[in-house]
Amino acid sequence: MKNIRKLLFPADHPWQPNNHKTGFNIYNMIHLKGFQQKHFIILFLFLLPSLSLQAQELDILLKGGHLIDPKNNINTVMDVGIADGKIAEIAPNISEKRAVKLINIAGLYITPGLLDMHVHVFMGNEPGVYIANGATSVMPDGFTFKAGVTTVVDAGSSGWRNFPLFKEQTIDKAKTRVLALLNIVGTGMRSRFEEQDVSDMNPVMTAHSIKKLYPDILVGIKAAHYWGDFTQVDLAVEAGEKAGVPVMVDFGEHDPPNSIESLFMEHLRPGDIFTHTYSYGPSQRETIVDEKGKVKSFVFEAQQKGIVFDLGHGGGAFSWRQAVPATEQGFKANVISSDLHTQSMNSGMKDLSNVLSKFMAMDVPLTDVIYRATWSPAQVIGRPDLGHLSIGAEADVAVFNLREGNFGFIDVRGMKIKGSKKLETELTIRAGKIVWDLNGLAAKDFRK
Ligand SMILES: [Zn+2]
Repeated sequence: MKNIRKLLFPADHPWQPNNHKTGFNIYNMIHLKGFQQKHFIILFLFLLPSLSLQAQELDILLKGGHLIDPKNNINTVMDVGIADGKIAEIAPNISEKRAVKLINIAGLYITPGLLDMHVHVFMGNEPGVYIANGATSVMPDGFTFKAGVTTVVDAGSSGWRNFPLFKEQTIDKAKTRVLALLNIVGTGMRSRFEEQDVSDMNPVMTAHSIKKLYPDILVGIKAAHYWGDFTQVDLAVEAGEKAGVPVMVDFGEHDPPNSIESLFMEHLRPGDIFTHTYSYGPSQRETIVDEKGKVKSFVFEAQQKGIVFDLGHGGGAFSWRQAVPATEQGFKANVISSDLHTQSMNSGMKDLSNVLSKFMAMDVPLTDVIYRATWSPAQVIGRPDLGHLSIGAEADVAVFNLREGNFGFIDVRGMKIKGSKKLETELTIRAGKIVWDLNGLAAKDFRK
C-alpha cells in the first residue's frame, strides 16, 4: 500500500497531497520534465478510472423504494438517482458511494410527482374589484407538496384580462409548477355575474394569450358556470381550435340541465375535457349514472370517442352514488384531480393523495390511480415532458407510505365508505430539491 502511495505521490511530486506550498497547478504541470513527466502520466492513467467511479455524481440517491412509473411501465423495486435537478439514473442497484445524499426508502412507494389537473390558485387580489377567486383560491405551495403534488393546472380562475396579474401574484412566486387553463371569459371567475357575459367571451384574445404570449404556461381553455345554452362551450371550442389546445367544461349550473350527450357528441372534440365526472346532480347537472344506478351508454361511447373525463372532486362534485356504480361497471375518470380550493380541502376532498386513496377504497389498483394523476393528465394537457421519471426528466418525485388500517372516506354529501389503505406522503422532491419530508427521511440523526 505504501509503495503504491509512493508511486502515485513521490515526495518531490508537485501533486503530493501534503505539499501545501507547491500544491498542484498548471505551471507545475507544464514544467514537469523527464522522469517526473512519466510519473505524472502513470499517475493520471491510474487515477482516471477511479476518479470517475468514485466521484459523487448523484446529488440524491433514493434507495430501495418500489417505483411506479406508468409511462415507462415500471412497477418494481428500483433505485432512483438525481443530479442537477434531473433524473440521472434508474437501476436495480446504484452504489450509495456515488451519491452526496442517500435516502433509504425501502418499504415505500416512489412515483413521479403528482400532476393535479384541476385546482384554483389565483389567490391574489385585483385592486378595486370583488374577486371570487381571492376568497376560495389557495397559494399552491401550502397544499401541494404535502400531498405529493409537484405540478398543478389552475382551471380557469383567470381569463385573458387578468392572467398577467395571476402570473405575477402567484405563478411566478410559487415553487410548485403552476400551469393554467384560461377562462373563455376575459375576467375569469371574478364573479358569477361576469361569467354570464357573452360579450366578454373572446376566442381571438383567448387564443392569442395561449399561443403567442404564454405558451409555456397556458395549456387549455375553461368554460364554466354558464347558465345559458351551448354558446359558451362553442366559443371556448372556437378558441381551442385557434390555439390548438383542449377545452375543459364545467357543465354544472344549468337549470334545467343541458344534455351532456349533446355536449359530448355534438359540441366537444376528442381530447376536450368534461370535469366533475361523478357529481351528484340532478337539479342543475345531468349525471353520468342514471337513477337505476346504470352508467348511461353514451358515456362509454363518449370516452371511446376521446372525450376526457376529469374527476374534479371539489366541494360539490364527488358522490359515492355516482362513483361506486360507475367503477363497478368499468367506467373510470381518465384523470383524478382535486379541484383544490378552500371549501374542498376542508370537506371530503382534503388533498389529492386522499382522493387517490378513495379510488383504492373502490378496489382500483395503486398503479392505476398513480397513472391517472401523472402520465394520463400530462398527455391530456399536451405536456409529455411531465408525469414520468424518464432519464433527463425534471426530478419531480413523490414518495408514499401505503398505510394499512381502518379509514373512512367522505363524499360531498357527507356519505362515507370504509377503506383499509391510505396513501401518506413521506417525501416530495421538486426539480431535485426536497420540498416535503414528513418523518425526516432525508435528515441526519440529531444524536449522531
Ligand atoms: Zn374547479
